[in-house]
Amino acid sequence: MSDSKNGLLGLGSRGAAVLDVRTRLAALASDDLPELRGLLDAPVDDAVDKSPDVFDRALERAVRAFQQHKGLIVDGVVGVETFGAIDGARWSLGDRILVHTPGHLQRGEDVAALQERLNTLGFAAGRADGRFGPETERAVRSFQRAYGLPGDGSVGPETLRAFEDLRRSVSGGSATVLRERERVRRAGHNLSGRTVVLDPGHGGADSGAAANALVESDLVMDLARRIEGRLTAIGVSVVYTRTQHSSPTEEERAAIANAAGADLLLSLHCDSHDVADASGVATFFFGRDRRTSWSAIGEHLADLVLREIVARTGLANCRSHGRSWALLQQTTMPAVRIEAGYLSHPVDAERLADPAFRDTIAEAVLVSLQRLYLGDDDTATTGVLQLGDLRAYLAAHS
Ligand SMILES: [Zn+2]
Repeated sequence: MSDSKNGLLGLGSRGAAVLDVRTRLAALASDDLPELRGLLDAPVDDAVDKSPDVFDRALERAVRAFQQHKGLIVDGVVGVETFGAIDGARWSLGDRILVHTPGHLQRGEDVAALQERLNTLGFAAGRADGRFGPETERAVRSFQRAYGLPGDGSVGPETLRAFEDLRRSVSGGSATVLRERERVRRAGHNLSGRTVVLDPGHGGADSGAAANALVESDLVMDLARRIEGRLTAIGVSVVYTRTQHSSPTEEERAAIANAAGADLLLSLHCDSHDVADASGVATFFFGRDRRTSWSAIGEHLADLVLREIVARTGLANCRSHGRSWALLQQTTMPAVRIEAGYLSHPVDAERLADPAFRDTIAEAVLVSLQRLYLGDDDTATTGVLQLGDLRAYLAAHS
């Protein structure tokens, strides 16, 4: 597009706003995203006008790489969401004091990092969306009170120091805590009697992504079988949207799930990207407009699945995102799509090729489903640590 009046910048756009985007991406390149440098400097054959205020193919590739890195929709176009992410990316935790300002929310990577830390420690800061809203402030206050700091809700040097102390002290015990919790959950059989739809992506003639000797449609079917085994073992009915050889449309898959009267749907995919170092796991739920078109349970489950997988596998966290894709929109039950790793990434691919690694992902998925049915009491905990452990730790060290 060439018109920047609609607030979108894309291939062919020109003007001061394009120069601004280029300058900001170049600054990120010299800081924490060095791979952007090569993309921005790459020679392009379409650049008749080499002026830096023209949105050329090099800039488009850099924008795509940035969007991939941030878990945004990768379309190479700079709209409100992408620009907000570019603007917020320059902040890392500790660069500025963070505080909830109603009507003018602070926004940035530092806020997302803060939310991740609070969630990991068991203080529910909500989705790590990089906006310092009231939920994040409440979580900060709870953390400060638990740690014996003045609970003013703002994040300055003292609160950051508390995070650092805590991280060094408790990280060793997390695996034990995790195993304990799993035993409890397995005994609970919270899911028993429910119906879960497993939707392995692609299938038949459509094999999806393929790289590093892996084929997406086969890999996600294998993953589905591993999840199925665990679900049926605790009394859950499993319905598949496809066989090894069929490839229904997204609409047909949604119809199968609806007809089954299922409680949940999990859509399984792996990703691939021509930016070589794209890696990690992302989850998606139905969400277009928070007031009218939003699945709160889908969001919660997407968040649980993401956090469990990241905690257990160490795959890069590409966050969870609301989307209005057909399958997510047309299903009547909470639905979550998982993009588990990049087949195009050598390390992701090597790990996904290992059956034991796929078992770990299946475990993570199962625990997140069980956690979903534990209800609101569980929203303050994660797969690695729970609030009770934090309190015990604080009591022992005060
Ligand atoms: Zn796919």
